[in-house]
Amino acid sequence: MKTETSSQSAYSKFIEQVKSSQVQRVTIKRDRIEYTLKREFGSQRYYTEPSGQIEELYRLLQSHNVEFTTIADNSANAAGIIGLLLSTGMLMGAFAWLLKFTNAGGVSIGMGMGKSNARVYSRGKTGTTFADVAGADEAKQELQEVVDFLSNGEKYRKIGAKIPKGVLLVGPPGTGKTLLAKAVAGEAGVPFLSMSGSEFVEVFVGVGASRVRDLFNQAKRQAPCIIFIDELDAIGKTRGNNPIGGNDEREQTLNQLLTEMDGFDGNNGVIVIAATNRPEILDPALLRPGRFDRQVLVDRPDKSGRLEILRVHARPVSLGKDVDLEAIAAQTPGFAGADLANLVNEAALIAVRKNHQTVLMADFKEAIERVIAGLEKRSRILTPLERQTVAYHEVGHALVGVLMPGGGKVSKISIVPRGLGALGYTLQMPEGDRFLLLEDELRGQLATLLGGRSAEEIIFGKVSSGASDDIQKATDLAECAVTQYGMSNTLGPIAFEKNSAQLLQGSSSRRSISAEVAAEIDRQVKQNIDKAHDMALEILQLNRDLLESTTQVLLEKEVLEGDELQQRLAQVQAPVGLNTWLMKAQW
Ligand code: ADP
Ligand code: MG
Ligand code: ZN
Repeated sequence: MKTETSSQSAYSKFIEQVKSSQVQRVTIKRDRIEYTLKREFGSQRYYTEPSGQIEELYRLLQSHNVEFTTIADNSANAAGIIGLLLSTGMLMGAFAWLLKFTNAGGVSIGMGMGKSNARVYSRGKTGTTFADVAGADEAKQELQEVVDFLSNGEKYRKIGAKIPKGVLLVGPPGTGKTLLAKAVAGEAGVPFLSMSGSEFVEVFVGVGASRVRDLFNQAKRQAPCIIFIDELDAIGKTRGNNPIGGNDEREQTLNQLLTEMDGFDGNNGVIVIAATNRPEILDPALLRPGRFDRQVLVDRPDKSGRLEILRVHARPVSLGKDVDLEAIAAQTPGFAGADLANLVNEAALIAVRKNHQTVLMADFKEAIERVIAGLEKRSRILTPLERQTVAYHEVGHALVGVLMPGGGKVSKISIVPRGLGALGYTLQMPEGDRFLLLEDELRGQLATLLGGRSAEEIIFGKVSSGASDDIQKATDLAECAVTQYGMSNTLGPIAFEKNSAQLLQGSSSRRSISAEVAAEIDRQVKQNIDKAHDMALEILQLNRDLLESTTQVLLEKEVLEGDELQQRLAQVQAPVGLNTWLMKAQW
């Protein structure tokens, strides 16, 4: 962007220019309004002194479709005053004075301490639509509904439906959460008020809470609109139960947020979208019905998603004829959207440095290496061997799982790192709700759980640490079978474990049992796990070719589902002893 000097203009002239649609963009500061004329009027930049009511100005700007931003004014003046007064120990006085100062002169554009310094983008002017978000089809589909709430609110109000108030976007950094939220505003053509969680949390007690209040008040005036709270975890961390100490300020801010969310009706047309990459640390109160009860997972893209994202970001770049975006997508597993955007730009920078007329494949190759090196430092990229291990492991689960009763249909295998933690996953859809687990199904589950580790053993002759969660689950299941479900023939239907209701009353977890019985339980748990493990190994050995070929396809595509997956799973052969083991094995 060119930086031109701006000249002063009268407020009345500014209003005139807005009314005659000459103004492109406006930035509203505490004591200054900066604006730029549209290109056809010379792109000239002006500033003016604000006067009159801010609400009126908002309305005027919106009705003339002017893009505007409201930002906190960190002018040297204000900062200097605070610094000075702090040093003379007059904090409270400074506060009162500053607030008065900001509200003086009839200008309620005040961006004092308690005011939210939300960035406001006016109607439809985030300039972002779903077309800018590539690959995140599921998330877009879910958010399409939110767009409809905002743009056709009347339809829902008429029939008496309650429009949800809060949507939480959950996913790793750089996957496009902010982009999606802006796109929702863009698609619905409503204002977008954006603020980051960390901006609410200030050192001064009470400031965060009043910023929340102010943000919601602004939003109600501009409804229908979207409030976007980035980094929700910064304010939404679980509140400590420590009455003294703790982070008082943050808790006050969180409480205010909860109050505001309870205090408005989604039907008024305000929808709060928040984003976090750490949902597990959020205070459960935030996730209750009527608050952020809708959650949308925004995950890292698979290969085809990466290709689409690359296409979006390569659009403005002149590409050499030899550039193969598909090959680039294949070489960038684990990259999030932001990493891919970064990659395209890196490649362009390299091309310029080398005096290339267009960006060549070689530039991309170099850029990939550079970006990967950065990501590896943050341990977000798997080595090729790790990827292979994960792929065999997941296919192992799938091939064993498909033969087992009651486990449900294996509908998807993926080695796209899933949100937070899991390196890969196999999705088994249960056929309807299940409340009881039959004995053979329980054995089947054990074998399925051990299928992942078994595949690693067969292929690599050793196991990785990646199966720890499976092993934990298998052990729990096998132990429950013996100690709670009474499935053991020798021990009989005796509950050796007390259920959690009894535990709450402060008793021990195991009934007092003799050392021999305890040893027998351990022996049976081990024996059953061993048998399930043997069965999983037998199945995979029998289907080793299928295991190999399916893993190769998975490594290539990263996600296997639909007909292609079903066709492969239909070829899995069952070992002769499978049914006998399922039905008649001794616990
Ligand atoms: P997050 O909020 O999840 O950390 P952002 O929305 O800030 O991620 O994404 C950062 C940038 O990465 C975006 O501005 C965009 O350039 C790029 N990006 C991320 N995801 C996508 C996507 N699905 N399609 C296109 N660009 C994307
Ligand atoms: Mg973001
Ligand atoms: Zn596993």
